[in-house]
Amino acid sequence: MRADPDKARKAARALIRSFGVSAPPVPIERIIKARNIVLQHAALDDNLSGMAYIQDGVGIIGVNALHHPNRQRFSAAHELGHHELHGAEIRKAVHVDRMFRVLLRDDVSSQGVDPLEIEANAFASELLMPSELLMKVVNASGLDIEDEAGIESIARRFRVSAAAMRYRLASRF
Ligand SMILES: [Zn+2]
Repeated sequence: MRADPDKARKAARALIRSFGVSAPPVPIERIIKARNIVLQHAALDDNLSGMAYIQDGVGIIGVNALHHPNRQRFSAAHELGHHELHGAEIRKAVHVDRMFRVLLRDDVSSQGVDPLEIEANAFASELLMPSELLMKVVNASGLDIEDEAGIESIARRFRVSAAAMRYRLASRF
């Protein structure tokens, strides 16, 4: 299977549109709940970010409660991506995520990384930092996104890590 990050971003945008999110931060927990997926926070090993699985027909997302809240939001969005895009795969086996190594990489350079992860990361990035909303905030704020302080300020408003925002701003949107 070849990764299709554009398909993943489209799915995230459709979800954001159906929720009518007009200001950050994106209400990820409310979105997950509305998809009838159970979100669980549990103390997991530090190298575990999250998991996605289906139990007795119910979709479940687990995130590591010991991680920074911003990272938990990204993990939750990533696992929602697996539910939205990879239902057939997670129906077969519990999907466990350790590190999101792909996060700091470019879509093109991330060959060799599991296509499912590339898609789930593209989905999470677009869901938490939707292009339209991001453009609106960047334009209205007058912040310099070339500037570290500007990136951190915007990241705080979207409740994502500065690393995730830096990556998002560096990719096309
Ligand atoms: Zn994953």
